[in-house]
Amino acid sequence: MKQSMTLIPTLREVPADADVKSHQLLLRAGFIRQNASGVYSFLPLGKKVLQNIEQIVREEMMAAGAMEILMPALQQAELWQESGRWYSYGPELMRLKDRHSREFALGATHEEVITSLVRDEIKSYKKLPLTLYQIQTKFRDEKRPRFGLLRGREFIMKDAYSFHSSPESLDEIYKKMFQAYSNIFERCGLNFRAVIADSGAMGGKDTHEFMVLSEIGEDTIAYSNESDYAANIEMAPVLAAYEKANEQQEELVKVETKDQKSIEQVAAFLNVPASKCIKTLIFKADDQFVLVLSRGDHEINDIKLKNYLEAASVELASPEETKALMNCSVGSLGPIDVDKDLKIVADHAVEYVINGVCGANDEDHHYTNVNPSRDLEVAAYTDLRFIQEGDPSPDGKGIIQFAKGIEVGHVFKLGTRYSEAMNATYLDENGRAQPMIMGCYGIGVSRTLAAVAEQFNDEKGFVWPANITPFDLHLIPVNMKDEQQAALANELYSVLGQHRFEVLMDDRQERPGVKFADSDLIGLPIRITVGKKASEGIVEVKERKTGNMFEVHKDELLEKIS
Ligand code: ATP
Ligand code: MG
Ligand code: MG
Ligand code: MG
Repeated sequence: MKQSMTLIPTLREVPADADVKSHQLLLRAGFIRQNASGVYSFLPLGKKVLQNIEQIVREEMMAAGAMEILMPALQQAELWQESGRWYSYGPELMRLKDRHSREFALGATHEEVITSLVRDEIKSYKKLPLTLYQIQTKFRDEKRPRFGLLRGREFIMKDAYSFHSSPESLDEIYKKMFQAYSNIFERCGLNFRAVIADSGAMGGKDTHEFMVLSEIGEDTIAYSNESDYAANIEMAPVLAAYEKANEQQEELVKVETKDQKSIEQVAAFLNVPASKCIKTLIFKADDQFVLVLSRGDHEINDIKLKNYLEAASVELASPEETKALMNCSVGSLGPIDVDKDLKIVADHAVEYVINGVCGANDEDHHYTNVNPSRDLEVAAYTDLRFIQEGDPSPDGKGIIQFAKGIEVGHVFKLGTRYSEAMNATYLDENGRAQPMIMGCYGIGVSRTLAAVAEQFNDEKGFVWPANITPFDLHLIPVNMKDEQQAALANELYSVLGQHRFEVLMDDRQERPGVKFADSDLIGLPIRITVGKKASEGIVEVKERKTGNMFEVHKDELLEKIS
């Protein structure tokens, strides 16, 4: 590509509203431009990097047995109503109406669409397992869009969904996806860790986030260098809120739980999202304590739970009671004795959720995913509210350290949460209808781009890793008006292109200083400068990463840079 023909609007100044390195450089090097808050255009260089990441994702998805599809971003409200998330997703879901006043959402995620698609097409166990994925724009009206592509309101995600007739089959694909994710982030050159994520009642060991270690990460992970143990401490803010609440006992007790807005009110008081609030709140009803195990976007039906809690006139446990229960449930460190430490509280919870919310009729409940033994173990693993740096790791191996992470990927065993709610069944070997067992697997493709940008730079600009660099070589004739330089540059441009190098040639009539500064900013792995020695056929090669330079005759160039 000749630079005179493309659009690379570099900037000398650091843009005022960009406060992290990746955002600053993506703007300065002319990779992206902001359109609205959290909404960006990808310019030619940004688009090329995006395509390279997508290519890696596609190759690894293919290797994991997933086939690519493309689903609509415009989604009818009915589907979201079927799953219940129309009511529970909250303001992050962008909603709109068509000219007939029918309601729609812009896809924040695609569980509903894919579940309805597969429900209509797959009828028999013989067609399972099935894994499908897409790479597509997602819309989320984030409360605080920030850090450029890292938290956008419109962003690009790869989302895969798998459908199974047995938990073993789900385990198998989950493992493959896990491996594919590790490969993808490794190929992008990222320094990352897979961590156990918090998943409420769905089974915490069955969900992992892929975290790029970075100081600007919004998540905190607890890990031990001596073991494989690593987990997201997402619940930490909730703990802080509890502490605050303890200091202000009066107010906590005053929170109303009987009206429609109770959970939101509690959440607002605790200053956490309602979805995060539910899981760890401890309720008291009929003199029993209930630790509600529901939380989050992908969770069991929060609406039913809310309605139930309201109907049952439950009351919040007092701060003292909460504290006592919290201590007894997750207070001990080291390998947690599930029977001793957690059983009392969680047994109540499980029993309560199943009997209470689901009623006597077991046919008709959405809580089959609550599995006491598994969830207790999970709770012990993921509930890190009391873990501090320097504590022993829960598996006894090594000491806990904290690090900041950027969530670039998330794999999740959904179970039958969507298939049951939306009636996606298949006929088993005995001709009986069974809900499909599902998994979902997301990668923030545009966020991954920003995470790489965040990791690969120096004071002069980007230093792209070879796998995802927008171009391989930056070819710079110092002076295009010099006929010999222009001729040699054009010759090399075509020869290198024929040898499958992707070459960006700076054929602009700019001063050398400008060209070199732009070249450092853009950060292609290798720069080839065609200058005064063009008459002898000699060019200068410089490696961006190390700054190492050497001169070489054009005839030996290919050999030297291959
Ligand atoms: P976060 O905790 O950062 O809000 P999430 O848990 O809500 O992310 P998921 O629903 O797990 O996100 O979506 C899958 C992936 O999509 C995430 O792992 C992340 O890489 C990416 N992603 C989510 N939200 C955004 C966003 N606002 N901008 C860019 N990428 C995003
Ligand atoms: Mg989110
Ligand atoms: Mg998250
Ligand atoms: Mg996530």
